[in-house]
Amino acid sequence: MARNPSTYRSGLWLDWCPGCGNFGIITAVYKAFAELDLDPSKTVVVGGIGCSGKTPHFINVNGVHSLHGRAIPFATGIKLANPELTVVVNGGDGDILGIGMGHFIALGRRNVDITVIMHDNGVYGLTKGQAAPTLKRGIKTKALSKPNIQDAINPIAIALSAGYTFVARGYSLNIDHLKELIKQAISHKGASFIDVLQPCVVYNNIYTREFYSERIYVLDEEGGWDPEVKSDSVDEMMQKIDQAWRRSLEWGDKIPIGIFYKNSSYSTFEERLSVEIPTYLEKPPAKQVIATAEGRPIFTTDAFREFFSKYIIQTKNSRG
Ligand code: SF4
Repeated sequence: MARNPSTYRSGLWLDWCPGCGNFGIITAVYKAFAELDLDPSKTVVVGGIGCSGKTPHFINVNGVHSLHGRAIPFATGIKLANPELTVVVNGGDGDILGIGMGHFIALGRRNVDITVIMHDNGVYGLTKGQAAPTLKRGIKTKALSKPNIQDAINPIAIALSAGYTFVARGYSLNIDHLKELIKQAISHKGASFIDVLQPCVVYNNIYTREFYSERIYVLDEEGGWDPEVKSDSVDEMMQKIDQAWRRSLEWGDKIPIGIFYKNSSYSTFEERLSVEIPTYLEKPPAKQVIATAEGRPIFTTDAFREFFSKYIIQTKNSRG
């Protein structure tokens, strides 16, 4: 039986500004975790720096409040150390697509089984509203002295290019729809990305609740939308990526949310590692003995030795 969403509330006061879209996002996370019946002891939420970076404090599972832009590498290390864990990143658009962009790309190309939930409000809220990478050119929010002269990053297009195998967009105030996206992203085997549009009620007076409520619509199968690659055909994959990329450009009177792209036929990084290191999934680093009974560190674990003999020595030999 599914757990109650309140199981996942840490009890700490959510100190975001009243009306912030983060409340909708965390409510969707609580609900999704409950419906997936995630074991709190086997679930990890990793935050970066920013308003959204506080999310791990508010969820009653394992959590890391990491460094600016570094939530993804923290999460990658956790997942690879123990692939049994469900690992979720919560970070802002500035955190993930600004200073953390290199890590965002690396996660997609590796296809590690992690879910990234990006709180996308177009501004750096925690540091008084500077333009974040998703703020469009020409927009002047109230904290900017002049309209933004930089072009915005398209998060969906970047995720598709990087190799994410589940790419979606949600809206923080459409909680049940976002909950379903989070459930699907976590259940997907591979790197998942959800771009969550959210109002920042203090610093972004352009992308407001009213702005979004007039424009947002849901991509759905009944409307003829099919984001999923159903074969291992490269042509089908390219057609689905192309369709997702084109739809992601729609930003005006109408803004789509939903799943843009899904491909379950790609191997994950963990699967590829287990081919190279046959004991990896059964004895990942987190399950290996790292110290003697006396507490002395053991540096050469089985997998480490195997890895070294396979790669380092072979590479050395091949270089002569
Ligand atoms: Fe939310 Fe903006 Fe306040 Fe940060 S500054 S908590 S994003 S409303």
